Amino acid sequence: MAKTHTDPLTPTRPGGPFGFWTSLKLWQKIIIALILGVIVGGILGPTAEYIKPIGSLFVNLIKMLIVPLIFSSLVVGICSMDDIKKMGRIGAKAFGIYLLTTAIAITIGLAVGTILQPGAGLSMQMPAELTAAKEAPSFIQTLLNMVPKNPVAAMSSGAVLQIIVFALMLGVAINLAGDKGKPVAALFESFAEVMYKMTHMVMAFAPYGVFALMAWVAGKYGLDVLLPLATVIMGVYVGCILHVLLTLTGGGIMMLGRLNPIRYWRGIIDAQAVAFTTTSSSGTLPVTMECARTNLGVSRPISSFVLPLGATINMDGTALYQGVAALFVAQAFGIDLSTGQYITIILTSTLASIGSAGVPGAGLIMLSLVLTSVGLPLEGLAVIAGIDRILDMARTTVNVTGDLMVSVLVAKSEGELDEEVYNEVATV
Ligand code: ASP
Repeated sequence: MAKTHTDPLTPTRPGGPFGFWTSLKLWQKIIIALILGVIVGGILGPTAEYIKPIGSLFVNLIKMLIVPLIFSSLVVGICSMDDIKKMGRIGAKAFGIYLLTTAIAITIGLAVGTILQPGAGLSMQMPAELTAAKEAPSFIQTLLNMVPKNPVAAMSSGAVLQIIVFALMLGVAINLAGDKGKPVAALFESFAEVMYKMTHMVMAFAPYGVFALMAWVAGKYGLDVLLPLATVIMGVYVGCILHVLLTLTGGGIMMLGRLNPIRYWRGIIDAQAVAFTTTSSSGTLPVTMECARTNLGVSRPISSFVLPLGATINMDGTALYQGVAALFVAQAFGIDLSTGQYITIILTSTLASIGSAGVPGAGLIMLSLVLTSVGLPLEGLAVIAGIDRILDMARTTVNVTGDLMVSVLVAKSEGELDEEVYNEVATV
């Protein structure tokens, strides 16, 4: 990964039969693992299921990091930002860009769905009724739910928004306590440092986890499962690629940030690969934070505030997918949508993507909200569910790419982007 860190697990002078492998950079190993995984999974077919536990082990390892890592690094971040106004400004900027990019993402999804017509001519079979539509919690309820009644319970259940609120208040309180609060601040600083080290240790295992997860996916979904729904898969992938290239890289990094896009891509590739294979942006969070800090030069306070928030509420890929999927269902059932219904889809997809947890398959469950809001049959969900993992891989990658873009922009606008580190990554 980044050259500023010495990786204790990689020998300095590789040699022997594994010399080639050990001499590779982590991101190179991950990409090789991804490709090998597809090949091995394709050859093994459903038996690749036996390799999956290695992937699950990796997922568990990174999940293990989430709560202590976000909590400690956020407390440290807030302690170093003793200006409350600055915190508010950073939060508002991040939230504004999150909403804007999400709305653009759904619009791209709807445009791709209209042009490609993924559901046209599909004789959809009516499977048994799927689970009832998810009810959107009221706005007040959502706000109230952000404040944990019990911070320990919030941590044990991994409720990220609640952990963010508690960490924010704890950081502010430590600062207000002045000299008396300093030992607690030092404790969290040291704890956060230890958690960063642990992230490095877990990441050394990433190539093997990625290999196993890819082999499992490739083995499970043969071509006969994928072909009938090839256009919807293509719609989501084309939309995701357009959004990443045009909105996030072109509009965000190049136009607004005036930064080199290649260096951005080189810096985020570990997080993208982990997002693609684990389909969980919350699960990827430790890697995302590591990439932002070490490869892109985003300051600790910004990365530890903006990224956990993004992993919870900013889901461009999920919103885009919901746009394509809603049109797919409408077309497959031969239902014409009015302009008002398109606008409703944009609004509900934005809300549904904010409400989706960054876990595998969350976007599919929230899709029921979008479909019911415009009276589309929920049976469409069952068809999408069969291939959802493949779609989830693309949308989670976009979700994480969007979070990282926003962290870079916010850091740059606050003068907290170390451009030397950002530009250095190309030589790593
Ligand atoms: N799996 C996605 C994520 O973690 C959420 C979704 O299902 O759309 O970002």
